[in-house]
Amino acid sequence: MPYNKHIFRLFAGCILQKGYNSYVICDLQRKRIRRIPKTLYFLLETFKNHSLKQIKDSFRHQHDTTIDEYFNFLHENEFGFFCSRQQSRLFSDIDLSFDHPSIISNAVIDINKQSPFSLAHVLALLDDLHCRHIQLRFTGDYTAKELIGLLKSAESYPHNSIDVIFNYSASISIKEILAIYSFPFVSELRIFNVPEKKIKGLQELSENDPIYFHSGGIAESPSALSIENMQLNIRLFSESQKHHTYFNRKLYITAGGEIKNAPQCPEIFGNVQDQKSLRQIAADAEFQKYWRISKEMTDVCGDCEFRNMCIDSRLPKQRSKGKWYHETECSYNPYISKWKGEEGYRTLEESGVTSSIKGIKINRRKLNALNKELWD
Ligand code: SF4
Repeated sequence: MPYNKHIFRLFAGCILQKGYNSYVICDLQRKRIRRIPKTLYFLLETFKNHSLKQIKDSFRHQHDTTIDEYFNFLHENEFGFFCSRQQSRLFSDIDLSFDHPSIISNAVIDINKQSPFSLAHVLALLDDLHCRHIQLRFTGDYTAKELIGLLKSAESYPHNSIDVIFNYSASISIKEILAIYSFPFVSELRIFNVPEKKIKGLQELSENDPIYFHSGGIAESPSALSIENMQLNIRLFSESQKHHTYFNRKLYITAGGEIKNAPQCPEIFGNVQDQKSLRQIAADAEFQKYWRISKEMTDVCGDCEFRNMCIDSRLPKQRSKGKWYHETECSYNPYISKWKGEEGYRTLEESGVTSSIKGIKINRRKLNALNKELWD
C-alpha cells in the first residue's frame, strides 16, 4: 500500500451512520448510501487520526490485507482521501447546524367546491410567512378550465413552487394538462383516479416533465418509505439532527379551512377564513409540538441508520413524559436491515421487537438468532 504513512480522511460530506444492525456511509454530495462492514466502521471511528501503519501496528499486523482492502475500497470509490497529519488538520467536519429563513417552509392546502376560503387569501397569508413550497390538492371534481381559473390567483407569487394535485376527468385533454403545467410556478403535477387503460398513453407525457398519473385516489397518495426515496442532502441531514423532517415548519389547511400542522395531526388551530395573519398560530408552542421530535428521540427510528435521511409522515406519540413511539411500523426494519418485500423480511414483532405506549422491548436472543439465520 503506497499510503502506509498517511491518514485517511472521509470527505466532509461522507458521514458515518450506525444503526442497530447495519453501518453506512452517507455521501451527501453524490447522493449515495453504502453499507459498510461493522469492522470498517469501527476502524474509521476509533483510528480517526492514525496513519495506516499505526492502524496495522495496533492489530500486530494480523489483518494487514483486510485493512488494505477496506481503505482501497474507500479510496477507489472516492469516499475520502489520504493526506499527511499536517494536511488533515486543514479539513474541518461539516457544520450540521440548521436554520431556515421561512416561518413556514412548506404548506399543504386541500380545496373542494365547498371550501369556504379563497385561494388568493390563503396564498397571501402563506406569503407573509415566507412559505415558498406549497402542495395544492384539489379534492373535488374540477374541469381544466376551473383549475386554470383557480391557479391564476397564484400568479401574484411567481417565486413559489407549487405541486398541483387533482382528480382526472374524462373531458380533460393533453393540451389542457400541459396548460396547467405551463404556469411557471407549477413544479409538479399529480393526477389521480386515472382509468388504468389510459395511464400508459398519458405517461408518455411525463417522460421529461414531473407529471405523474395514478390510478388510486388522492387520499392514498402518501407512499411507503423505501431505499429509493431516501433524501440524501445536506439540508435534510442537518434539519433531521434536531427536527422532525416531515412536521417541521409545515402548515396544513383542510378543505373546510381548518388550520393544522399537518394532515396527520388531530389538533386544530382555528379557521383560515377568520385569520388576518397566521404568524401567531405558527409561533404557538402547541402548533410546533411535533417540530422538534427528531428520529433520534423516537423508538426504533433511533436505532435506524437511515434516521437522518428519511421523511416519515407517521404521527409520533409520546408516553407520559417519556420517549416517542409510533403506532404503526415503518416499511424498514432496522433490527434486521430488511425492507418490506425483501427476502427474509420480518415485521418488528416477528423479530422480537415491540414498541407501544408501554415501552420498547427487544428480545435480543430472538433477534440475534434471526440475524444469524439471515446474514451469516
Ligand atoms: S425506521 Fe424510522 S428512521 Fe428508519 S427509515 Fe423508517 S421511519 Fe426512517
